[in-house]
Amino acid sequence: MDKVLVTRDIPKNGLDMLKREFEVYVNPYDRNMTKEELIEKIEDVFAVIPMVSDKIDKEVIDRAKKLKIIANYGVGINNVDIEYATKKGIFFTNTPGVLTQSTAELGWALIMACARRIVNSDSFTREGKFTGFAPTLMLGKELYNARIGIIGMGRIGSSVARMARFGFNMDVVYYNRSISDKELIVDTGKIELDELLKTSDVIILTTPLNNESKHLISKREFDLMKSDVVFVNIARGEVVDTDALIDTLRSGKLFACGLDVYENEPDFDKRLLEFDNCVLLPHIGSATIKTREKMADIVANNVISAYQNRCPEFVVNREALCAAEK
Ligand code: NAP
Repeated sequence: MDKVLVTRDIPKNGLDMLKREFEVYVNPYDRNMTKEELIEKIEDVFAVIPMVSDKIDKEVIDRAKKLKIIANYGVGINNVDIEYATKKGIFFTNTPGVLTQSTAELGWALIMACARRIVNSDSFTREGKFTGFAPTLMLGKELYNARIGIIGMGRIGSSVARMARFGFNMDVVYYNRSISDKELIVDTGKIELDELLKTSDVIILTTPLNNESKHLISKREFDLMKSDVVFVNIARGEVVDTDALIDTLRSGKLFACGLDVYENEPDFDKRLLEFDNCVLLPHIGSATIKTREKMADIVANNVISAYQNRCPEFVVNREALCAAEK
Protein backbone atom coordinates (compact mmCIF):
# COMPACT_ATOMS: atom_id res chain seq x y z
CA MET A 1 0.00 0.00 0.00
CA ASP A 2 1.32 3.48 -0.81
CA LYS A 3 1.91 5.81 2.09
CA VAL A 4 0.71 9.27 3.05
CA LEU A 5 2.39 11.47 5.66
CA VAL A 6 0.20 13.95 7.56
CA THR A 7 2.32 16.34 9.62
CA ARG A 8 -0.38 17.28 12.18
CA ASP A 9 -3.59 15.51 13.12
CA ILE A 10 -6.40 16.71 10.80
CA PRO A 11 -10.18 16.10 11.07
CA LYS A 12 -11.29 12.47 10.86
CA ASN A 13 -13.35 12.88 7.67
CA GLY A 14 -10.19 13.52 5.64
CA LEU A 15 -8.16 10.82 7.35
CA ASP A 16 -10.95 8.26 6.80
CA MET A 17 -10.97 9.03 3.07
CA LEU A 18 -7.21 8.60 2.89
CA LYS A 19 -7.16 5.39 4.95
CA ARG A 20 -9.36 3.67 2.36
CA GLU A 21 -6.56 4.01 -0.20
CA PHE A 22 -3.31 4.44 1.71
CA GLU A 23 -1.29 3.57 4.75
CA VAL A 24 -1.50 6.86 6.63
CA TYR A 25 1.08 8.10 9.12
CA VAL A 26 -0.12 11.02 11.24
CA ASN A 27 2.40 12.85 13.44
CA PRO A 28 1.34 11.54 16.88
CA TYR A 29 2.69 14.53 18.80
CA ASP A 30 0.87 17.72 19.68
CA ARG A 31 3.56 19.82 18.03
CA ASN A 32 4.98 20.41 14.57
CA MET A 33 7.37 17.81 13.20
CA THR A 34 11.02 18.74 13.31
CA LYS A 35 12.91 18.92 10.05
CA GLU A 36 14.74 15.70 10.96
CA GLU A 37 11.45 13.87 11.58
CA LEU A 38 10.02 15.22 8.35
CA ILE A 39 13.05 14.13 6.34
CA GLU A 40 12.91 10.65 7.87
CA LYS A 41 9.20 10.11 7.33
CA ILE A 42 8.94 11.64 3.86
CA GLU A 43 11.44 9.22 2.32
CA ASP A 44 8.99 6.65 0.93
CA VAL A 45 5.60 8.40 0.85
CA PHE A 46 3.40 9.01 -2.18
CA ALA A 47 1.93 12.16 -0.62
CA VAL A 48 2.67 14.58 2.16
CA ILE A 49 0.01 16.76 3.78
CA PRO A 50 1.98 19.56 5.42
CA MET A 51 0.70 22.46 7.46
CA VAL A 52 1.54 25.96 6.26
CA SER A 53 4.11 26.07 9.07
CA ASP A 54 6.09 23.12 7.65
CA LYS A 55 8.89 24.21 5.37
CA ILE A 56 9.02 21.90 2.36
CA ASP A 57 12.26 23.08 0.80
CA LYS A 58 14.68 21.59 -1.69
CA GLU A 59 16.41 19.50 0.97
CA VAL A 60 13.14 17.92 2.12
CA ILE A 61 11.94 17.34 -1.45
CA ASP A 62 15.22 15.70 -2.38
CA ARG A 63 14.80 13.17 0.43
CA ALA A 64 11.36 12.13 -0.85
CA LYS A 65 11.99 9.36 -3.32
CA LYS A 66 8.39 8.50 -4.21
CA LEU A 67 6.63 11.84 -3.65
CA LYS A 68 3.95 12.74 -6.21
CA ILE A 69 1.96 15.40 -4.35
CA ILE A 70 2.42 18.02 -1.63
CA ALA A 71 -1.13 18.76 -0.47
CA ASN A 72 -0.88 21.83 1.77
CA TYR A 73 -3.47 22.00 4.54
CA GLY A 74 -4.11 25.72 4.00
CA VAL A 75 -4.42 28.35 1.30
CA GLY A 76 -1.01 30.01 1.81
CA ILE A 77 1.71 28.67 -0.46
CA ASN A 78 4.85 30.35 0.84
CA ASN A 79 6.08 27.32 2.84
CA VAL A 80 6.87 25.21 -0.22
CA ASP A 81 9.61 25.52 -2.86
CA ILE A 82 7.07 25.39 -5.68
CA GLU A 83 9.60 25.85 -8.44
CA TYR A 84 11.63 22.88 -7.28
CA ALA A 85 8.58 20.68 -6.67
CA THR A 86 7.36 21.50 -10.17
CA LYS A 87 10.75 20.68 -11.64
CA LYS A 88 10.50 17.29 -9.96
CA GLY A 89 6.99 16.76 -11.39
CA ILE A 90 5.35 16.91 -7.94
CA PHE A 91 1.84 18.33 -7.71
CA PHE A 92 1.43 21.14 -5.22
CA THR A 93 -2.11 21.81 -4.00
CA ASN A 94 -3.78 24.09 -1.44
CA THR A 95 -7.25 24.64 0.02
CA PRO A 96 -8.57 27.98 -1.26
CA GLY A 97 -12.11 29.28 -0.83
CA VAL A 98 -13.33 27.12 2.05
CA LEU A 99 -11.45 29.17 4.62
CA THR A 100 -12.30 32.60 3.24
CA GLN A 101 -15.24 33.30 5.52
CA SER A 102 -13.74 31.89 8.71
CA THR A 103 -10.51 33.84 8.21
CA ALA A 104 -12.35 37.05 7.38
CA GLU A 105 -14.49 36.59 10.50
CA LEU A 106 -11.33 36.13 12.58
CA GLY A 107 -10.04 39.36 11.05
CA TRP A 108 -13.17 41.05 12.27
CA ALA A 109 -12.84 39.45 15.70
CA LEU A 110 -9.39 41.07 15.93
CA ILE A 111 -10.59 44.44 14.66
CA MET A 112 -13.40 44.47 17.22
CA ALA A 113 -11.19 43.19 20.05
CA CYS A 114 -8.67 45.94 19.28
CA ALA A 115 -11.15 48.75 18.78
CA ARG A 116 -13.16 47.97 21.91
CA ARG A 117 -10.35 46.70 24.14
CA ILE A 118 -12.13 43.41 24.66
CA VAL A 119 -9.15 41.43 25.96
CA ASN A 120 -8.11 44.18 28.42
CA SER A 121 -11.71 44.46 29.61
CA ASP A 122 -12.00 40.73 30.16
CA SER A 123 -8.78 40.65 32.21
CA PHE A 124 -9.91 43.69 34.17
CA THR A 125 -13.18 41.98 35.10
CA ARG A 126 -11.56 38.66 35.98
CA GLU A 127 -9.01 40.44 38.17
CA GLY A 128 -11.88 41.81 40.31
CA LYS A 129 -11.28 45.41 39.26
CA PHE A 130 -14.85 46.08 38.11
CA THR A 131 -16.35 48.33 40.75
CA GLY A 132 -19.20 49.79 38.73
CA PHE A 133 -19.99 51.67 35.53
CA ALA A 134 -17.51 54.46 34.89
CA PRO A 135 -17.77 57.03 32.07
CA THR A 136 -14.10 56.80 31.14
CA LEU A 137 -13.54 53.08 31.62
CA MET A 138 -11.99 51.17 28.67
CA LEU A 139 -12.84 53.75 26.03
CA GLY A 140 -12.48 52.39 22.54
CA LYS A 141 -12.80 53.47 18.94
CA GLU A 142 -16.07 53.52 17.04
CA LEU A 143 -16.01 51.79 13.68
CA TYR A 144 -19.27 53.04 12.17
CA ASN A 145 -18.51 55.35 9.21
CA ALA A 146 -14.74 55.02 9.80
CA ARG A 147 -12.35 54.19 6.96
CA ILE A 148 -10.92 50.69 6.60
CA GLY A 149 -7.88 50.10 4.39
CA ILE A 150 -7.55 46.54 3.12
CA ILE A 151 -4.17 45.44 1.81
CA GLY A 152 -4.71 42.44 -0.51
CA MET A 153 -8.21 42.54 -1.98
CA GLY A 154 -8.63 38.87 -2.82
CA ARG A 155 -11.08 36.32 -1.43
CA ILE A 156 -10.42 37.10 2.25
CA GLY A 157 -9.90 40.84 1.76
CA SER A 158 -13.17 41.22 -0.13
CA SER A 159 -15.04 39.24 2.51
CA VAL A 160 -13.64 41.60 5.19
CA ALA A 161 -14.70 44.49 2.93
CA ARG A 162 -18.27 43.22 2.64
CA MET A 163 -18.63 43.00 6.42
CA ALA A 164 -17.12 46.48 6.78
CA ARG A 165 -19.47 48.07 4.27
CA PHE A 166 -22.69 46.29 5.10
CA GLY A 167 -22.12 45.74 8.82
CA PHE A 168 -20.51 49.03 9.81
CA ASN A 169 -21.18 51.36 6.89
CA MET A 170 -17.43 51.86 6.61
CA ASP A 171 -15.64 53.70 3.88
CA VAL A 172 -13.72 50.83 2.27
CA VAL A 173 -10.48 51.45 0.39
CA TYR A 174 -7.96 48.90 -0.76
CA TYR A 175 -4.47 48.40 -2.09
CA ASN A 176 -3.69 45.39 -4.24
CA ARG A 177 -0.87 44.43 -6.58
CA SER A 178 -3.29 44.48 -9.53
CA ILE A 179 -6.76 45.94 -9.92
CA SER A 180 -8.90 43.48 -8.01
CA ASP A 181 -11.88 41.85 -9.69
CA LYS A 182 -13.49 41.83 -6.23
CA GLU A 183 -13.81 45.61 -5.91
CA LEU A 184 -17.31 45.65 -7.38
CA ILE A 185 -18.53 43.69 -4.35
CA VAL A 186 -18.40 46.85 -2.28
CA ASP A 187 -18.21 49.39 -5.07
CA THR A 188 -14.78 50.71 -4.19
CA GLY A 189 -11.52 51.38 -6.00
CA LYS A 190 -7.84 50.72 -5.62
CA ILE A 191 -5.80 53.54 -4.09
CA GLU A 192 -2.07 53.95 -3.65
CA LEU A 193 -0.59 52.24 -0.61
CA ASP A 194 0.65 55.52 0.90
CA GLU A 195 -2.77 57.10 0.57
CA LEU A 196 -4.36 54.11 2.28
CA LEU A 197 -1.83 54.25 5.12
CA LYS A 198 -2.27 57.99 5.65
CA THR A 199 -6.07 58.00 5.69
CA SER A 200 -7.32 54.72 7.20
CA ASP A 201 -8.66 54.34 10.73
CA VAL A 202 -8.34 50.56 10.51
CA ILE A 203 -5.72 48.77 8.41
CA ILE A 204 -5.88 45.04 7.79
CA LEU A 205 -3.41 42.87 5.90
CA THR A 206 -4.87 40.07 3.78
CA THR A 207 -2.21 39.64 1.12
CA PRO A 208 -0.21 36.46 0.49
CA LEU A 209 3.50 36.46 1.33
CA ASN A 210 5.55 36.80 -1.84
CA ASN A 211 8.62 38.73 -3.01
CA GLU A 212 6.71 41.99 -3.29
CA SER A 213 4.87 41.71 0.04
CA LYS A 214 7.80 40.73 2.30
CA HIS A 215 8.14 43.60 4.83
CA LEU A 216 5.60 45.58 2.82
CA ILE A 217 4.84 47.31 6.13
CA SER A 218 8.07 48.67 7.60
CA LYS A 219 9.14 51.84 9.41
CA ARG A 220 8.28 54.16 6.51
CA GLU A 221 4.79 52.71 6.26
CA PHE A 222 4.14 52.84 10.03
CA ASP A 223 5.32 56.47 10.02
CA LEU A 224 2.68 57.31 7.41
CA MET A 225 -0.19 55.84 9.45
CA LYS A 226 -2.60 57.90 11.55
CA SER A 227 -1.60 58.03 15.18
CA ASP A 228 -4.61 56.17 16.53
CA VAL A 229 -4.95 53.49 13.89
CA VAL A 230 -6.08 49.92 14.56
CA PHE A 231 -3.61 47.66 12.77
CA VAL A 232 -4.43 44.00 12.11
CA ASN A 233 -2.40 41.27 10.40
CA ILE A 234 -4.13 38.02 9.42
CA ALA A 235 -1.95 37.46 6.32
CA ARG A 236 1.58 36.26 7.07
CA GLY A 237 3.98 37.54 9.72
CA GLU A 238 6.71 38.34 7.20
CA VAL A 239 4.54 40.97 5.50
CA VAL A 240 5.35 43.17 8.51
CA ASP A 241 8.81 44.17 9.73
CA THR A 242 8.46 43.19 13.40
CA ASP A 243 11.25 45.52 14.59
CA ALA A 244 9.44 48.45 12.99
CA LEU A 245 6.13 47.33 14.51
CA ILE A 246 7.69 47.15 17.98
CA ASP A 247 9.31 50.59 17.59
CA THR A 248 5.95 51.98 16.52
CA LEU A 249 4.16 50.37 19.46
CA ARG A 250 6.83 51.74 21.83
CA SER A 251 6.28 55.22 20.44
CA GLY A 252 2.62 54.87 21.47
CA LYS A 253 1.43 55.58 17.96
CA LEU A 254 -0.97 52.70 17.33
CA PHE A 255 -4.32 52.62 19.10
CA ALA A 256 -4.06 48.85 19.05
CA CYS A 257 -2.67 46.03 17.04
CA GLY A 258 -4.10 42.57 16.42
CA LEU A 259 -1.89 39.77 15.17
CA ASP A 260 -2.77 36.23 14.15
CA VAL A 261 0.53 35.60 12.36
CA TYR A 262 4.19 36.33 13.12
CA GLU A 263 7.61 36.33 11.58
CA ASN A 264 9.42 33.11 12.37
CA GLU A 265 6.43 31.17 13.77
CA PRO A 266 6.12 29.72 16.32
CA ASP A 267 9.11 31.59 17.82
CA PHE A 268 7.44 34.96 17.63
CA ASP A 269 9.17 38.05 19.00
CA LYS A 270 8.43 38.00 22.74
CA ARG A 271 8.85 41.79 22.95
CA LEU A 272 5.28 41.89 21.63
CA LEU A 273 4.14 40.65 25.04
CA GLU A 274 5.10 44.06 26.51
CA PHE A 275 2.14 45.81 24.91
CA ASP A 276 -1.29 45.53 26.43
CA ASN A 277 -2.81 47.20 23.37
CA CYS A 278 -1.82 44.15 21.29
CA VAL A 279 -4.10 41.17 20.85
CA LEU A 280 -1.97 38.13 20.04
CA LEU A 281 -3.52 34.99 18.57
CA PRO A 282 -1.87 31.64 17.73
CA HIS A 283 -2.51 31.55 13.94
CA ILE A 284 -6.18 30.54 14.15
CA GLY A 285 -7.55 32.37 11.10
CA SER A 286 -9.33 29.38 9.59
CA ALA A 287 -9.92 27.57 12.88
CA THR A 288 -13.61 26.76 12.79
CA ILE A 289 -14.86 23.17 12.92
CA LYS A 290 -16.69 23.55 9.60
CA THR A 291 -13.74 25.01 7.74
CA ARG A 292 -11.18 22.58 9.08
CA GLU A 293 -13.41 19.65 8.06
CA LYS A 294 -13.81 21.07 4.56
CA MET A 295 -10.05 21.56 4.34
CA ALA A 296 -9.56 17.91 5.33
CA ASP A 297 -11.95 16.83 2.54
CA ILE A 298 -10.05 18.92 0.02
CA VAL A 299 -6.57 17.65 0.91
CA ALA A 300 -7.79 14.05 0.82
CA ASN A 301 -9.47 14.59 -2.57
CA ASN A 302 -6.35 16.28 -3.93
CA VAL A 303 -4.21 13.30 -2.90
CA ILE A 304 -6.69 10.74 -4.25
CA SER A 305 -6.92 12.57 -7.60
CA ALA A 306 -3.15 12.51 -7.96
CA TYR A 307 -3.15 8.80 -7.07
CA GLN A 308 -5.69 8.17 -9.82
CA ASN A 309 -3.50 10.08 -12.28
CA ARG A 310 -5.94 12.97 -12.47
CA CYS A 311 -5.05 16.60 -12.06
CA PRO A 312 -6.13 17.60 -8.51
CA GLU A 313 -8.81 20.28 -8.35
CA PHE A 314 -6.80 22.79 -6.34
CA VAL A 315 -3.43 22.36 -7.98
CA VAL A 316 -1.14 25.40 -7.82
CA ASN A 317 1.34 24.24 -10.48
CA ARG A 318 -1.43 23.40 -12.96
CA GLU A 319 0.21 25.15 -15.90
CA ALA A 320 3.31 23.00 -15.70
CA LEU A 321 1.84 19.67 -14.68
CA CYS A 322 -1.69 19.50 -16.09
CA ALA A 323 -1.03 20.63 -19.63
CA ALA A 324 -3.92 18.71 -21.13
CA GLU A 325 -6.40 20.12 -18.60
CA LYS A 326 -5.37 23.80 -18.80
P1 NAP B 1 -6.28 35.52 -2.76
O1 NAP B 1 -7.73 35.35 -3.06
O2 NAP B 1 -5.27 35.02 -3.73
O3 NAP B 1 -6.05 37.08 -2.50
C1 NAP B 1 -4.83 37.66 -2.35
C2 NAP B 1 -4.90 39.08 -2.91
O4 NAP B 1 -3.67 39.74 -2.59
C3 NAP B 1 -5.05 39.07 -4.42
O5 NAP B 1 -6.02 40.04 -4.79
C4 NAP B 1 -3.66 39.45 -4.91
O6 NAP B 1 -3.71 40.18 -6.12
C5 NAP B 1 -3.17 40.34 -3.79
N1 NAP B 1 -1.70 40.38 -3.73
C6 NAP B 1 -0.83 39.38 -3.97
N2 NAP B 1 0.41 39.82 -3.77
C7 NAP B 1 0.32 41.12 -3.40
C8 NAP B 1 1.27 42.11 -3.05
N3 NAP B 1 2.56 41.82 -3.04
N4 NAP B 1 0.82 43.34 -2.74
C9 NAP B 1 -0.50 43.61 -2.75
N5 NAP B 1 -1.44 42.72 -3.07
C10 NAP B 1 -1.03 41.47 -3.38
O7 NAP B 1 -5.90 34.84 -1.37
P2 NAP B 1 -6.82 34.67 -0.07
O8 NAP B 1 -7.51 33.38 -0.10
O9 NAP B 1 -7.60 35.92 0.14
O10 NAP B 1 -5.67 34.54 1.06
C11 NAP B 1 -4.75 35.59 1.25
C12 NAP B 1 -3.67 35.17 2.23
O11 NAP B 1 -4.19 35.13 3.53
C13 NAP B 1 -3.10 33.76 2.02
O12 NAP B 1 -2.11 33.73 1.00
C14 NAP B 1 -2.53 33.44 3.38
O13 NAP B 1 -1.18 33.84 3.43
C15 NAP B 1 -3.37 34.30 4.32
N6 NAP B 1 -4.24 33.46 5.17
C16 NAP B 1 -4.05 33.48 6.52
C17 NAP B 1 -4.84 32.69 7.32
C18 NAP B 1 -4.67 32.68 8.81
O14 NAP B 1 -4.86 31.66 9.43
N7 NAP B 1 -4.38 33.82 9.43
C19 NAP B 1 -5.84 31.86 6.77
C20 NAP B 1 -5.99 31.88 5.39
C21 NAP B 1 -5.18 32.68 4.59
P3 NAP B 1 -2.89 39.81 -7.44
O15 NAP B 1 -3.94 39.59 -8.45
O16 NAP B 1 -2.06 41.00 -7.71
O17 NAP B 1 -2.08 38.57 -7.16
